[in-house]
Amino acid sequence: AHEQLAQVQKMDAIGQLTGGVAHDFNNLLMVIGGQAELLRTRLGGADPRATRSLDAIETATRRGRDLTRHLLSFARRQHLQPLPISLSDRIRGIEELFRASLPAPVALMIDVPSFIWPVEVDPSEFEIALLNMIVNARDALPDGGVVSITGENVTLREGEIQDLSGDFATLTIRDSGTGMPPDIRERVFEPFFTTKGVNKGTGLGLSQVYGFVHQAGGHISVTSELGKGTSFTIYLPRVQATPVAPSEPREVDAPAGL
Ligand code: ADP
Repeated sequence: AHEQLAQVQKMDAIGQLTGGVAHDFNNLLMVIGGQAELLRTRLGGADPRATRSLDAIETATRRGRDLTRHLLSFARRQHLQPLPISLSDRIRGIEELFRASLPAPVALMIDVPSFIWPVEVDPSEFEIALLNMIVNARDALPDGGVVSITGENVTLREGEIQDLSGDFATLTIRDSGTGMPPDIRERVFEPFFTTKGVNKGTGLGLSQVYGFVHQAGGHISVTSELGKGTSFTIYLPRVQATPVAPSEPREVDAPAGL
């Protein structure tokens, strides 16, 4: 519990710090990107070496903006609006986005029954958390395989999982991918921890998920076996309120690197 608190505090501090920096940085990157575009129009492809340099500038700018967007979504947690929602409705609402994020030969199976208990979370934050886990599953399946999302109602007695007790709706995101050795599995929720290299990973995906789950009074667990796959289970406390209906299908901010 002490470690958890330290982690949440660390993430809050990082969130506040990065929010301001990310915002200013994003504006600078917009200026750089805009000027590069102007320069491209002025040159009109006359100089192939200049065009290649412009390509490199634009790629780096785009990458930078992905990164700042990720940092902003990380910092945005201060403005969250938790609502009673139905996990099965929400997942149905963004199923298409999940499928689009998982190119063949990755199969997606969803089994989240409608009787799953309502929970109170910020719906966008929930969708981003799930997407972050889906993207990780995809990255762990370079040769294809299966990703499944299953839902279950669970009643915890004191001592079963840390200090949690009572009714929880759970979601398990499982993949048949590369798996992780124990030394990596232990670090996955650390902010900025990534094994994907600086050009691909930010190491913020699972910290976002961790922060989201803990702020909702829940818990996340992970099991993984090298060469067999990985499974994350999130526990969210049941609420008594009637879930609000999901709004019209809409665009959600795709995480960096999607
Ligand atoms: P990022 O995806 O940017 O690396 P995350 O915080 O989402 O950041 O993940 C941190 C690390 O955890 C990843 O770099 C990877 O090593 C490991 N990881 C996360 N999910 C999985 C998974 N489903 N299978 C294997 N490894 C994973």
